[in-house]
Amino acid sequence: PHLTDIFDDVDPIPSTFCLKSRSVVSEDFSGGYPSDEKWHGYINNNDRVLLKTIHYSSPTSAGAECIDPSCTWVEQWVHRAGPREKIYFKPEDVKAAIVTCGGLCPGLNDVIRQIVITLEIYGVKKIIGIPFGYRGFFKEGIHEMQLSRKVVQNIHLAGGSLLGVSRGGPNVSDIVSNMEERGINMLFVLGGNGTHAGANAIHNECRKRRMKVAVVGVPKTIDNDILLMDKTFGFDTAVEEAQRAINSAYIEAHSAYHGIGIVKLMGRSSGFIAMHASLASGQVDVCLIPEVPFRLHGPHGVLNYLKFLLETKGSAVVCVAEGAGQNFLEKTNATDPSGNIILGDIGVHIQQESKKYFKEIGLPADVKYIDPTYMIRACRANAADGILCAVLGQNAVHGAFAGYGGITVGICNTHYVYLPIPEVISYPKEVDPNSRMWHRCLTSTGQPDFV
Ligand code: ATP
Ligand code: MG
Repeated sequence: PHLTDIFDDVDPIPSTFCLKSRSVVSEDFSGGYPSDEKWHGYINNNDRVLLKTIHYSSPTSAGAECIDPSCTWVEQWVHRAGPREKIYFKPEDVKAAIVTCGGLCPGLNDVIRQIVITLEIYGVKKIIGIPFGYRGFFKEGIHEMQLSRKVVQNIHLAGGSLLGVSRGGPNVSDIVSNMEERGINMLFVLGGNGTHAGANAIHNECRKRRMKVAVVGVPKTIDNDILLMDKTFGFDTAVEEAQRAINSAYIEAHSAYHGIGIVKLMGRSSGFIAMHASLASGQVDVCLIPEVPFRLHGPHGVLNYLKFLLETKGSAVVCVAEGAGQNFLEKTNATDPSGNIILGDIGVHIQQESKKYFKEIGLPADVKYIDPTYMIRACRANAADGILCAVLGQNAVHGAFAGYGGITVGICNTHYVYLPIPEVISYPKEVDPNSRMWHRCLTSTGQPDFV
């Protein structure tokens, strides 16, 4: 088979970012099979979505990110997602597989459901689920799951993943050989950065073997830490659930004499959940995130500020992201089966240090710690995430049918787009301590700098 780049024949648009060199279709696109009138209109292959459309009048404007001070326009574009008039695969030749990897995230079932339903509308008959992540390609005694609209109809009413998830597992070459044996030519991969690194490796291995397989990712990160995307599914739900935990911490702290409530939220390297939940709840006095260093002890430390809050307000609520303040904790070098470093528990540490501190200074304090992580992750997606999942699921299938491979779907600058996987996983998106959003969060909590 002849391998060509899908974007060879489109007009180049001046850009600092484009898919051209990276996103690949396995064969000449022009001879594609016409797609039926099922989608109420098609997306033109030349459609572009601008990633940034803000015009900063000066580089010193608050929150401006000027690459060079003489350039106040930042223009980057990506391809618009959606159904194409010509499709690359004949629906009757498709065997599609779906796999979910990593940790749980609200909305996984919504995405699985929408992928299956959209595949069926295209006319695909062979749809399978790979159980328990990449391990499921080989797991003995566990067989692939046959999927249809009937099977997935109501799965979005519950959290979790119908297919199950796992970490670690087989190497990429074995996975691709297994896909070859099973005759899989569309693979939908739902997972985080690790899963996407795997998906990209699978895509490259398929290309190397000249297999005509569309590997399409749907980014699953409750932390919202994927580059370029406005938000990822599950994030909204997580923030909403996190607020409940914060509210409980507030009530506990407020009802106790000198009460302190500490809530630890997800966010290994990015504090988006902690920041947004703090902003949304309006009940947080101190928000601590991995991107912003802080001290616990000393006149400018968190503990001294908690003392001030107890003396002035009578109670305090601390919201801390799990990756914050890791420098205070002993490094263990322990990793999970996927190779991710297991973090120390910063919530427990702050609780212990506060108890010690207030005992030492002889000020009574009632410190309570809440870790709602698994309750948040296992939730059913809320309405906003339900919509996001539905659109991402549909677009994943449209992308695969259009012949895109090694891509992931997302929402950028309010539009739905296809992005090359390596562009979005090179490093995690982080809260910019100079951004307006972080400044708004600080305004809302009223906290000082802890350095
Ligand atoms: P989460 O956000 O929940 O951590 P994740 O996708 O990052 O999601 P991981 O457990 O890190 O979760 O990885 C999921 C799967 O991807 C695992 O099966 C792991 O073996 C595989 N994987 C991780 N990194 C790579 C890589 N660089 N190449 C190939 N496969 C990988
Ligand atoms: Mg990860």
